[in-house]
Order: sequence, then structure tokens, then C-alpha cells
Amino acid sequence: MAADNSVLVIGAGIFGLTAALELQQRGYQVTVADPGPVPHPLATSNDLSRMIRIDYGADGLYSSLGADAIEGWRRWNSAWGRDLFHEDGMLLLTSAPIVAGEFEQNSYDLLTGRGFSLERLGPGDLARRFPRWNSEYYVDGYFSITAGWAEAGEIIASLVKDAADAGVSVVTGFKAARLLQDGDRVSGVVDSDGSELRADWVVLAAGVWTTVLLPELADRMWPVGQPVFYFKPDDPESYRPPSFPPWAADTPRSGWYGFPANDDGVVKLANHGPGRRVHPDADRVILAEEEALCRAFLAQSLPSLASVPLNDSKMCLYCDTWDGDFWIGRDPARQGLVVATGGSGHAFKFGPVLGGLAADALEGIENPYTSRFAWRPLGEIKKEEMRYTGE
Ligand SMILES: Cc1cc2nc3c(=O)[nH]c(=O)nc-3n(C[C@H](O)[C@H](O)[C@H](O)COP(=O)(O)OP(=O)(O)OC[C@H]3O[C@@H](n4cnc5c(N)ncnc54)[C@H](O)[C@@H]3O)c2cc1C
Repeated sequence: MAADNSVLVIGAGIFGLTAALELQQRGYQVTVADPGPVPHPLATSNDLSRMIRIDYGADGLYSSLGADAIEGWRRWNSAWGRDLFHEDGMLLLTSAPIVAGEFEQNSYDLLTGRGFSLERLGPGDLARRFPRWNSEYYVDGYFSITAGWAEAGEIIASLVKDAADAGVSVVTGFKAARLLQDGDRVSGVVDSDGSELRADWVVLAAGVWTTVLLPELADRMWPVGQPVFYFKPDDPESYRPPSFPPWAADTPRSGWYGFPANDDGVVKLANHGPGRRVHPDADRVILAEEEALCRAFLAQSLPSLASVPLNDSKMCLYCDTWDGDFWIGRDPARQGLVVATGGSGHAFKFGPVLGGLAADALEGIENPYTSRFAWRPLGEIKKEEMRYTGE
């Protein structure tokens, strides 16, 4: 690391801001550029809530990263002097008995083996402890204590302030149109008006817009639209922890997950599924059939919400990589370029450790995650390797 090295981070989402903060702490002079305002209204990191969990099936790598991130969330809460990460736990429910080899049993085995506390639901527990749920339909599950949810948009607002306080130059109103290159070295970006920002390093963290600037990666990552629904029930108290913690209901198979009522009484749920491939600038609206599926799920699972009118809805975009793993690595073909993106619907929870991974990539420091998240060719996913990683 050399103190006079400059870094330009493109994009002020969770990947970009955490990279900026970490690199500034490592002695670089960092600028972050974003069209703004930050949080950007269309940024994937900007929403009421994001799930924070360490339950990752048999995938010990993400689970370890998640455990490190939880420590970081606790540190951020105390640094901010307010809890933007709510450690309310997470309820994982199944409509059939949990069986060996499935996500829930794999998570349970891995986490209990690592010493984490999980409470397996016994007969009658769901009706007694979590009465909003249809206990005739959900017959099994567990409560994961080391989990919760994060106020995503508020966190981005706090991080951009932290970055500015740490000396990062935050430039809003700048939308990079293309990379600048001197020989085989990326040396900055230019916007559509011809304004340039130059630096020794560029960290491209533009989420679903990454492939607009790097179309050569469009075969390995792409924007996918996922529906999100918001309700405002009359009695928000009954949708709050401990009786209504964040939840995932048959999620590896059904895709449904959700959150307790926030301070404004808004209950959010969303679906993690194949989604719809869209352009990053497509209208962010949900389809009538997506709302119908949500209503059917509620009627079966949370009947008290089934006829509550929608308070809001939107389509939120994942930047899915072909294999679901993040993309945090140096361009092998050019000097000076690091890409930090490919959240694939599950990166926010790792916020406190993402910046370290991006900074390590820039500095060429190997860590246990380097090879999994590296710049990589398109490969084949064998069915047994496919895993549930959403939210
Ligand atoms: C519906 C939904 C639910 C999710 N739920 C969870 C969850 O529960 N838990 C979890 O861990 N993760 C979840 N995720 C995933 C997580 O939110 C994302 O992985 C993460 O926020 C992506 O962050 P990012 O920094 O890559 O992108 P973004 O937050 O989109 O940031 C990219 C930034 O780049 C800027 N930008 C774009 N183009 C340019 C340009 N040309 N020049 C300069 N700047 C530019 C944008 O304005 C934006 O601010 C969810 C995602 C969705 C869509």
C-alpha cells in the first residue's frame, strides 16, 4: 500500500461504500462517484430491510463470512449509537418434516456443529410462540438466534456520511459512461458530458449497471427483477419480535421470506426465485400475477395479512452471477481495475466485511474467499451444486 495511491470507486451501494471506507483506512486517497442522491432511489442496497443470517445450508464459506459480518454489524451499531441492525433472530419454517440433505437440515447441522444456538421447533411451538403463522401448514422448522435484519437504506446513508467523515471524496451527479484506458491500464472514467475522473485504481461497484460499463461480463452476470410487497396492517405490534421475527417459509423451494413491522408499521415480504431478466433501467413495477402469487402465499401461510391492501410494491433488481457467487476481483487482462459486484440477491448481509474483500483484491492479498469470488470464466453448474443463496 502506498499512501499516494488514488482510488476511484464507481457506485455508492453497499459494495462501493464499504470498499471506499476500507481503502481510505488502508491509506489510499479515495473518491466515490454515483449519479446520486445517495442512497440512490434505484440502488439495490436501498430498501427498508435486508435479511442478515448465517444459515447457508452446507456452504461453510458463506456461513463463516456471515459470522464475521455479524460481529461487524454489532460494531457498526455501537459506532452509530443506534441499532440499524436488529438482531431479532430468524424463523425458518417448513411445510414438511425437515429431511437430511435439504437446506434447513444442512444449515442446522453446520451451525450447531460450529456452536451456534438454534432452537428446533417442537410440536405446538409454532402456534404458541409465533401465532401469526398457519401452524397446520408449517409442521417443522427452527429459530436461528444469530440473525436479524438491517435497515438497508438508512445504513447506506450512514456509510456515506462515515466515508465523507473519513476523508473520502463523495462525488454525486456523476454517471460514468465508459472506462478510460492508457495502454493496458484503466485510468479512470468519463461521463456522458465528457467530464473525467482519473485515479491509479478504479473499483467498479455499479451493481446491476456494472455490465453497462463492462459489457464483456454480460454473459456472466445480469439484472434479474424480483417482486417486493409492503403491507400496513392495523395492528403492527402483532407483527413484531419476539412473536414475529424475520422469517423464511419453505424458502429454498417457495422463495418467500419477510420481515417484522418496522417503526412505521410496514410489514415487508418478498420472493427469491428465478425472477425476470430485465434491463437495469426497466420500469420497476410488479406484475398482476406476482401479486396474485403473494396473496395465495399469504392465504396459506399468514392468513391475517391475506386481505390487507398493498401499501406499496416494487421490482428490485439482483445482479445475478452465473453461479450465484459474488464477483470481487481484479481484471486479469488489464491493470488498475477491480470489480466488486455480483450480489446475486444476498450480499447486503456481508456489508461489514465486503470492503475488506474488495481492498484485498486491489492489493493482491489472498484470503479464504479470493478464489471463489475471483474474475472467472463462465462454467457449468451441476444440479447438485446449485444452492439457495437468496436474500
Ligand atoms: C428484492 C431484494 C431483496 C434482497 N434481500 C436481501 C437480503 O435480505 N439480504 C441480503 O444480504 N441481500 C439481499 N439482497 C441483495 C443485496 O441488496 C444486494 O446484493 C446489494 O445491495 C447489492 O449492492 P451493490 O452495491 O452491488 O449495488 P447497488 O446498491 O445497486 O449500488 C450500485 C450503485 O452504483 C451506482 N451507479 C450505477 N451506475 C453508475 C454509473 N454509471 N456511474 C456511477 N455510479 C453508478 C448506483 O446509483 C448505485 O448507487 C436483496 C436484493 C433485492 C433486489
